[in-house]
Amino acid sequence: MKSFENRSDRCPQTAPTSNKKKSEEKSYPLSYANALTKSKESIIIVKPSEKNVTGEDSTNIKEVIKQKINPDGLGVDINSKKNNRDEAVLRKVCDGEEAQRLQKDIEREMGKSVNTKIPEKKNPCIKIVGLEKNYEEKELIDILKSQNNTVITAESHLTVKVTKKMVENYLSIIECDPDTFQKIMLKSGSRLYIGCRACKVFEYISVLRCYNCCQYGHTAADCKSEKMCGKCNSTFHEHRDCEKKMECTNCCMSNNDFNSKHDINHSSFDFMCPVYISVTNKAKANIYYQQ
Ligand SMILES: [Zn+2]
Ligand SMILES: [Zn+2]
Ligand SMILES: [Zn+2]
Repeated sequence: MKSFENRSDRCPQTAPTSNKKKSEEKSYPLSYANALTKSKESIIIVKPSEKNVTGEDSTNIKEVIKQKINPDGLGVDINSKKNNRDEAVLRKVCDGEEAQRLQKDIEREMGKSVNTKIPEKKNPCIKIVGLEKNYEEKELIDILKSQNNTVITAESHLTVKVTKKMVENYLSIIECDPDTFQKIMLKSGSRLYIGCRACKVFEYISVLRCYNCCQYGHTAADCKSEKMCGKCNSTFHEHRDCEKKMECTNCCMSNNDFNSKHDINHSSFDFMCPVYISVTNKAKANIYYQQ
């Protein structure tokens, strides 16, 4: 079992909320029905096969793809990561077979100048809160199977990813096969029996979040930006010393860069932040929900 402390996507120790329980319950605002809708999206990653193939006047692969294929006509959304003009991420609501056909079309149109990849989807994860103790992995899985046999069977494939101590109890993040995940989310009333407790269950979606600059998509180890206060969008000071009005760094950037009209009056770590919700929805395209 991995230590939670080593994970880049953990909740910050210094999360600027005084009510941890409330923050915990707010952390998964997206419904399971929404997850199923989003899971129909496929992703194709396109990179230049060698340097400078995209042309002297433009190294932005996103623009090169737009010139060669008709993304609107194909129903494809193209994005490139910030600070990475050499990688484009194409998204389309379609099944795996259609994604493979689209991948072949792109390869045909762009020739040998690009490499394309359809990332392998990961199994979904659940987060169980309110565990009374730090169970060993095998013990926890045996209990889950024996006490919840209407939704978790002997054949269910479960892997404990991490267990973390909270203020009064523990939480566990467990990877599930898609069939078991569906049964848990749809039939168990969002609770699983563990020992004497009926523990609440949420979907868990891992997103990379930087605790230096508060942005998504990289960790503090790879951060090239200035350290920011997660509460007020100023350069860093301890949260407990912050007396400024709440202002979300990511929503401010989105409003400036993309002309979005997000409400900015929340902390950068707020789980209801529209940028966080958008990042989480994109992460769902990499999760395999149905067998
Ligand atoms: Zn950063
Ligand atoms: Zn501040
Ligand atoms: Zn925000």
